[in-house]
Amino acid sequence: MVVTACRACPRLVAWREEVAATRRAAFRDQTYWGRPVPGFGPEDARVLVVGLAPAAHGANRTGRMFTGDRSGDVLFAALHRTGWASQPLSTSAGDGMRLTGLRMTAPVHCAPPANMPTPQERTTCGAWLRRELELLGPRLRVLLVLGGFGWQALLSELPALGWSVPVPRPAFRHGGEATVVDPLGRPVTVLGCYHVSQQNTFTGRLTPDMLDAVLSRARELAGS
Ligand code: SF4
Repeated sequence: MVVTACRACPRLVAWREEVAATRRAAFRDQTYWGRPVPGFGPEDARVLVVGLAPAAHGANRTGRMFTGDRSGDVLFAALHRTGWASQPLSTSAGDGMRLTGLRMTAPVHCAPPANMPTPQERTTCGAWLRRELELLGPRLRVLLVLGGFGWQALLSELPALGWSVPVPRPAFRHGGEATVVDPLGRPVTVLGCYHVSQQNTFTGRLTPDMLDAVLSRARELAGS
């Protein structure tokens, strides 16, 4: 089965489809994706950007990670400035955007109510996270995690996928780094970054310079 056909979480299936049916007024003339959002980016990427879950009217509408909302606008502009993305604006799955050396995914592939999946939903979606990690395999050098919730979600799920995570679990910090070890004994750096949410970018908690610095650090760690 492919991730886009998954219906394993009843609450999330109901929510993603309800949002797709009712739509936001501004997008009334559009057909929402309304399904699990797959990872986006090349399969030979050394950096995997990890969010938390798709936004109801962003990726759940467009069908592509971080595409179609303000958070994505901030992220893709920074990815373009730092050389990871082919264009600064990510508006739809058919806009021609290409990523180089970097892929993006989420521990939960369906939009959750209030942007908050349950621990059980995170665990259920761990099977797809495992596939993402296996897809990148030994090339993966950096897990760039956006936000404290994404950090907790990822580090909570990795041990069940056979990864070693430091004990006690490292706390999230913007620019913070930790080393985890994949099932074959290869070290991978987990790099923290404040989430690109409007709450953080409008208040100046996360500035373009701070985001660029983390993305540049990811490139340094990836050796690319
Ligand atoms: S969150 Fe993940 S496991 Fe749950 S229905 Fe969506 S794709 Fe399937």
